[in-house]
Amino acid sequence: MRKKKVEGIARDTLEFIMETCRSSMPNEFAALLRAEKGIITEVVYLPGTEPSRMSALIRLYMLPNMEVVGSVHSHPSSNIGPSSQDLLLFTRTGDYHIIVGPPFDDHSWACYNASGEKRDLPVVDVEFDSSEEDF
Ligand code: ZN
Repeated sequence: MRKKKVEGIARDTLEFIMETCRSSMPNEFAALLRAEKGIITEVVYLPGTEPSRMSALIRLYMLPNMEVVGSVHSHPSSNIGPSSQDLLLFTRTGDYHIIVGPPFDDHSWACYNASGEKRDLPVVDVEFDSSEEDF
């Protein structure tokens, strides 16, 4: 899997993630992240995935031809540090891994690299241009 340089996440995308995580409660939400022009703008998940994030993420990882920069998942508790299972997945699915927890607002998330170390991920305002799809 090719590694891409990521400069930030689109504000709209982060808000979508928070909204989805909130409505998934008490289940965990898990998905993979894609970036365009260095900004994370796409959340990729399969409808009908099982509530268990491990099986959901592993199934996503099996998708062929998917270029991802990282992952996102929610923790039902407010502890948003990566678990040892999370770290295993981090090493396989890119270098930008977001974990969110209640109350799912601007401050209840963190981004980690593939080794599970906290890293900065700026939130940026992006104009979405649907005429510029490059896949
Ligand atoms: Zn986790």
